[in-house]
Amino acid sequence: MKKILIIHTGGTIAMQEDDSGAVTPFDSNPLYSTIESLSSIAAIENDDYLNIPSPHMTPALMFELANRIKKRVSEEHFTGVVVTHGTDTLEETAYVLDLLLNWEIPVIVTGAMRSSNELGSDGPHNLIAAVKTAASEQAVNKGVLVVFNDEIHTAKNVTKTHSSNIATFQSPQYGPIGIITKQTVSFHHTLSQRESYNVEKLTKKVILIKTYAGMQADIIEAITHSGIDGLVIEAFGQGNVPPAIVPALKETLDRGIPVVLVSRCYSGIVQDVYGYEGGGKRLKELGVLFTNGLNGQKARLKLMVALELTNNQTELQNLFLK
Ligand code: ASP
Repeated sequence: MKKILIIHTGGTIAMQEDDSGAVTPFDSNPLYSTIESLSSIAAIENDDYLNIPSPHMTPALMFELANRIKKRVSEEHFTGVVVTHGTDTLEETAYVLDLLLNWEIPVIVTGAMRSSNELGSDGPHNLIAAVKTAASEQAVNKGVLVVFNDEIHTAKNVTKTHSSNIATFQSPQYGPIGIITKQTVSFHHTLSQRESYNVEKLTKKVILIKTYAGMQADIIEAITHSGIDGLVIEAFGQGNVPPAIVPALKETLDRGIPVVLVSRCYSGIVQDVYGYEGGGKRLKELGVLFTNGLNGQKARLKLMVALELTNNQTELQNLFLK
């Protein structure tokens, strides 16, 4: 029989709505009654690790969670892991786990958009689907997956796309890699490449900032002078920025602080196409690093991981083209 560890971290899936309509964390875990019904799928062990809203999640806690999973799996030989999490930063935790866990066993992250006592609460259903996926042989060696609303997404490509709809998790451009039905868990795609890194901490200060029309240099200058280890810029389209910020980006790079470019478009990748001031070609010449489709929040986390390994520009660029 499969042996699955469910690590609870909080989020709406563990919350309750009170009479005033406020949704807040709840002392006792509302998922236990659902978990009792899962004994035919797997032997389940619960770990009430955290009970926080996911806006309270930090890279330090994500790193601690990865270590906790490594320790428990190696000592107790679980065949799969499910992490319950608030949806706001779920994709970030899932991606950090994906970068830090170098193994084959399924690790599934799930949550809910409606709290445990709301009509149509999606938490129990998502949890059951996540446990079924964690118990599936087909989920082996697929990296960290996000299961939500009967779909299976990769941690690398999934993002929260809607503020309240239960179909919020989507993988723009790529789509889900599998689906869950009443009777089966089935995969129709697989990631062409997986990556994982061994780092001893996750403490680098990396800032993410979005470009906008008319943006001036002052904010980039202030951030650069505040003492940062890296900067991620959400650029326009294929990777272009307002000309006024270019001198500030040059100063950031001259100080040895890597600058990573992602697109503020939710699909597509950044490329060195445009040769005008602020265009991608010019940015590449300055030494700005290009990414291959990661969104800003994930590129920030990847830069945090990468900076624990190297500060070499070529090595960093190679890491971001994976
Ligand atoms: N604000 C909540 C959280 O991320 C949203 C959710 O869980 O769906 O904790």
